[in-house]
Amino acid sequence: MPPAAPERGVYFDYNASAPLLDIARDAVIEAMGYTGNASSVHGCGRATRRLLEDARAAVASSVSAAPQEVVFTSGATEANALACAGRSPSRIAATAIEHDSVLAAAAPGRRIPVLSDGTVDLNRLKVLLEEEPRPELVAVMLANNETGVIQPVTEAASLAHAAGVSVHCDAVQGWRRMPFSMAGLGVDSLALSAHKAGGPKGVGALVVRSGILRQALLRGGGQERGWRAGTENIAAAAGFGAVAAARPPAWTALQAMRDKLEHAVCQAVPKTCVIARDSDRLPNTSMLALPGCDAEAIVIRLDLEGIAVSAGSACSSGKVGPSHVLAAMDLAPDLLHGAIRVSFGPEVTDTDLDAFVSAWGRAAAVCGRRPAG
Ligand code: PMP
Repeated sequence: MPPAAPERGVYFDYNASAPLLDIARDAVIEAMGYTGNASSVHGCGRATRRLLEDARAAVASSVSAAPQEVVFTSGATEANALACAGRSPSRIAATAIEHDSVLAAAAPGRRIPVLSDGTVDLNRLKVLLEEEPRPELVAVMLANNETGVIQPVTEAASLAHAAGVSVHCDAVQGWRRMPFSMAGLGVDSLALSAHKAGGPKGVGALVVRSGILRQALLRGGGQERGWRAGTENIAAAAGFGAVAAARPPAWTALQAMRDKLEHAVCQAVPKTCVIARDSDRLPNTSMLALPGCDAEAIVIRLDLEGIAVSAGSACSSGKVGPSHVLAAMDLAPDLLHGAIRVSFGPEVTDTDLDAFVSAWGRAAAVCGRRPAG
């Protein structure tokens, strides 16, 4: 079933949030009608429990994990925080390009650098694994939310495990956009978020092997096997489960559209730089930069033409300034300030691409040089 149409124009900001799929909306609405509390023993409670456990099974199966490994959360921010909770920041090593919710938990001195192609530097990881104090947890995301660059998670996980260190993977941007499994990645925990893939906002999961978690963030009730107290958000979980159970979009088709878009913008505006063009990237994401231009100004110009994109990561509300991801890749300063993220979904059409390419040309023609300093 086609997803709900965005409010207007061309919506190229799926990495911030994707349109709600009809199957998710239907599941949410149906679940809102369930009266019982999933912890109640009576029939109404048991019906709600069944709904919750069906959603859990679907989410687990989407990453080839076991249902009892899924802890529902309010989203990936919370899932990342739960994966890190109860550990000293100095014992958590995170790649320099992680989402802020991971970086907030890890000490600034324990960042794993990335190479200029946007992938984590595995040699530096090896060194860090030997440094005192030894890390207890290494965090390596599956695909970066800004550049779309896919990280060598399996390789990082085997290095970390060889050193006796657990591995957490923020898989938010890869879920339903590239094939992967928990075992294939070889990680101990995975953070997922429903709304990047057409589910409702405000629900996600930490998929975690037993014995890995240290501390619950919310305590009191025994929900989610004691790892997340509070009456479960059944409607959101049902919407999440519906997305997990649906067949994922054909990502090879998306990649063809991405490549077409990149080719067309470079033809129209030859000074356009496609960040990490030669890296293995998500099929729906392009980071485009206009040297000497201001990304915020480009975003506003495109918005005036009805095209929604982001300057770097739109997830940090109101955040202005160069992205920590591009800075970690050591991008030239004139590109650092002029990079915008284009991220689309399976509904993208040639008409959308054409509209974007001509608007990009107009933006490039008028974009001014940033004032020096
Ligand atoms: N990790 C990554 C890579 C993300 O892109 C996002 C979305 N901003 C998050 C975590 C946080 O997800 P949520 O919105 O579910 O809290």
